Amino acid sequence: MFITFEGGEGAGKTTILNRLAQRLTEEGYQVINTREPGGIPIAERIRDIILDTKNTMMDARTEALLYAAARRQHLVEKVEPALQEGKIVLCDRFVDSSLAYQGAARGLGVEEVFQINQFAIADQMPDLTLFFDILPEEGLKRINKNTEREQNRLDLESLSFHQKVYEAYQQLLVKFPDRIERINANFDIIEVEEQSYKQIKAYLSR
Ligand code: C5P
Ligand code: MG
Repeated sequence: MFITFEGGEGAGKTTILNRLAQRLTEEGYQVINTREPGGIPIAERIRDIILDTKNTMMDARTEALLYAAARRQHLVEKVEPALQEGKIVLCDRFVDSSLAYQGAARGLGVEEVFQINQFAIADQMPDLTLFFDILPEEGLKRINKNTEREQNRLDLESLSFHQKVYEAYQQLLVKFPDRIERINANFDIIEVEEQSYKQIKAYLSR
């Protein structure tokens, strides 16, 4: 089962993913905890290029293609083999991030970015996507409080960029109502974990 975690900056995706991976493992499931862009060496190297604060010259289409390339390699090298072995794959970001960030916020067009991603993923969509819903203002506040978090090129973007990302996710919820579940990410970690856990268990018992 392929489960992706989506949402803007500071929504808590990584924290909740780590907690759920541990919890489901303790329950006896075989769980893979991974992330995008990255998760395997080739894709982590692409991640470094994309997110390097020095790469301010990067063209938006170049960026979209690099994300798609990293996604492709991560999918074939790590995600698909795990799915074939019957494992639960929990992935921090996937194709919806590209639709929101490159498609909407960078202005390349959601449909256009979906097309290049279809080439990359060849129909391997997630079974379930948890969207961590928190207003960008609130998410960015959390991030600014967290001094351990490493700066990346996206941190140079304005609030209006992150508002476009947020709007795009709201539209994706409408476009894919069967796949994407909304999680209210304003609550504390325990509560958000509980909501997410319930959604996953509900899917597993379908
Ligand atoms: O999920 P994480 O915060 O580690 O992502 C790293 C950065 O990459 C974030 O700032 C995110 O906004 C950005 N990103 C992006 N487009 C994607 C995926 C991630 O701009 N498709
Ligand atoms: Mg994160």
